Amino acid sequence: MKCYKCGSRKARVRVPSLEKKACDECFKQIIEKRFNRTVRGMNLKEVIVKLGRPSDKVLLHLFKKRAARVRELSVKSSKKESSINQSTLDDICVSVLKSFFKGEDCLIKEESPLESISEYELIEYAQIEGLAFNGNPRTGEEERIHEFIMELDERRPGVMYSIKDFMKKLQ
Ligand SMILES: [Zn+2]
Repeated sequence: MKCYKCGSRKARVRVPSLEKKACDECFKQIIEKRFNRTVRGMNLKEVIVKLGRPSDKVLLHLFKKRAARVRELSVKSSKKESSINQSTLDDICVSVLKSFFKGEDCLIKEESPLESISEYELIEYAQIEGLAFNGNPRTGEEERIHEFIMELDERRPGVMYSIKDFMKKLQ
């Protein structure tokens, strides 16, 4: 099967939000474009990425690529502090459902540069870019909720975006 986007290279990666398959190169562009769109809206000048969880390295990579093109953006990494929310789309959905099941209020505190990129997409992206990332560790409870979300997403692709957008509208 050929890539849905360029129509010439071999399609390899599933793009869940579109229910289509893309080649590595086009997939990479899709992810970077989505990342850049989110970051542009956040109006960041100086970013400190805290390196702790595995996804943080992918986040830093995406920011460094952007900073190479956008002059007014400076990017640093730190072992201790972070200047941004580093949640992935999956993290946001897990915390929303966790609060929902407990009957607690859930606040999506602030925008995250990775809020429109799922962990599945980050894993595929990392593989293409030669970064080691196979997903973030979670507590037992969070893992069960994450599995539930993955099941939902299989039946209704894009459900994670619906969860996130629904919560944002409530706030
Ligand atoms: Zn392509």
